Amino acid sequence: MKQTGDLNLVKKINKTIVLHHIRTDSPISRARIAEITGLTKATVSSLVNELIESSLVEEIGVGESSGGRKPMMLLFKGTAGYAIGVDLGVHDILAVLTDLTGKVIREKRIQHHNESVEHVTRLLTTTIRELIDTAPESVYGVIGIGLGVPGICDEEGNLLFAPNLGWENVPLQAQLEAEFGLPVVIDNEANAGAVGEKQFGAGKDTANLVYVSIGMGIGAGIIIRNELYRGATGFSGEIGHISIQHDGPKCRCGSLGCWELYASEHALLEQAGQELGHEVDLESLLSKAENGDAGVIQLFERLGYYLGVGVVNIINGFNPEFIILGGRLAGGEKWLMKPLLELLEKRSLPHPRKQLKVEFSELQDRSTVLGAASFAVAKFFASTTVSVERS
Ligand SMILES: [Zn+2]
Repeated sequence: MKQTGDLNLVKKINKTIVLHHIRTDSPISRARIAEITGLTKATVSSLVNELIESSLVEEIGVGESSGGRKPMMLLFKGTAGYAIGVDLGVHDILAVLTDLTGKVIREKRIQHHNESVEHVTRLLTTTIRELIDTAPESVYGVIGIGLGVPGICDEEGNLLFAPNLGWENVPLQAQLEAEFGLPVVIDNEANAGAVGEKQFGAGKDTANLVYVSIGMGIGAGIIIRNELYRGATGFSGEIGHISIQHDGPKCRCGSLGCWELYASEHALLEQAGQELGHEVDLESLLSKAENGDAGVIQLFERLGYYLGVGVVNIINGFNPEFIILGGRLAGGEKWLMKPLLELLEKRSLPHPRKQLKVEFSELQDRSTVLGAASFAVAKFFASTTVSVERS
């Protein structure tokens, strides 16, 4: 009996591998999958037939032959289901409906004033509900929800601590699962952003990258050898709390002189508020800078300098191939980049700097939603290859 169990497991694993290649390399032929995976052509064919029956794969006609009969090409059917990705921000919620390939079908953006946990979670569920209601008809429907949050979470999806939201111990995953009856994945927004960049953005071809999310706080998602590095207990990447001034001002985390006190959106807004004598938001600062306001441009340039101070620590500490700067402040690239690069040139160690790329995100502020949706899709495939199994 045990042997049968093992054989079933082997079959499931093989099917997962075949589906993986169709998802990442399609259009692809059965023969090519057999070649890459080392499985026999008969095994690949039988597994592909099951995947076609499960509506996850379709045949799209004949491809080029390398001699002999022209092969039938296979395509992953991204519209077999849909996923929700959400970026819960300190003042806004960005949510998308994507297909199973991560293509954005619909997007919704709303502001909030963080009046209370209940108020924001209500906005969150209304937003998700609206997107679910607009999902096109499909075989699997909406398969799950992924959520990026500005704080740290445990493995059960409890948001343990989000200093910039002022939230502690919110059982978000359980609440959303109960509300929607769908699988929910919750992770730190910078982790989700790093995965978004790795799968859909500038980081596609990079094995070792650090994604720095610059919002009201600063966080990092660290990808080492193509895998997200979560640390021993899942709390890696709280890089905004690296102290850059040992006796600096007190931070909400309890330490002094943390990087995000100097280089975050919060820091920029505070500085701007002091100089202009009234409260401002990022959008109005960006448009002032765009209109050539020298004072505001100087604020962005100083922020670029402070960003550089922290990025030097990342370069020297991690030796990544690629640092991607994302989050809402990516909109200020034009004024941030020059002082930042000048500082890196002067202060980072020359050897780790040599082969390094530093860029602002092409996905702008969508890295996190796309990564979050891809968490939901990954969870779906981790379970479906089991449940679509036919005897
Ligand atoms: Zn801190």
